[in-house]
Amino acid sequence: MISDRLDKAIREVPNFPKEGINFKDITPLLMDAELTNGIIDAFINQLNRVKLDAIVGIESRGFLFGFLLANKMGIPFVPIRKVGKLPGETLKYKYDLEYGSAEVEIHKNDIQKEWNILVHDDLLATGGTACAVAELIQQLGAKVAGFAFVVALDFLNGKSKLRAYSDNIISLKDY
Ligand code: AMP
Repeated sequence: MISDRLDKAIREVPNFPKEGINFKDITPLLMDAELTNGIIDAFINQLNRVKLDAIVGIESRGFLFGFLLANKMGIPFVPIRKVGKLPGETLKYKYDLEYGSAEVEIHKNDIQKEWNILVHDDLLATGGTACAVAELIQQLGAKVAGFAFVVALDFLNGKSKLRAYSDNIISLKDY
């Protein structure tokens, strides 16, 4: 089972980057080519009924598996970045964090109206970031076809927020 293999490989780092956060470090997955292929295949299996035109990946760990997945599916990959990094014309979205706020942006000409888009990140925590990305997609006239994460922290209830955009939420390992 992919979830057991992920559980063994993911490194837990207590109190990182601050006190009280149990950080799930996915970098060991990147060192295991077979497991990486297993992750991509598991996503493709679970997405087999979903029509997708592009995958949007969230900076920066959402680029790793997101780009591989899009490439294997033969569809475009579009990066979402923190503000100030993308050189072209962008659409921005600001959202609240537990303390303060964050802002993400996308190259607006990369997304075509009516496209069905998969939102991908390595990990779903509160869902604030993925919701911000879903807002950007909708503002560009495209559809959120689903969400795919390697890991979901279910005790934070992020999935319930995401259901406002799509019921199609995939996570390969839930904690
Ligand atoms: P959120 O917006 O709360 O869903 O946070 C999601 C983002 O924060 C993702 O890009 C994750 O990579 C990162 N993140 C949040 N909590 C953790 C955690 N416990 N371990 C690893 N990454 C985390």
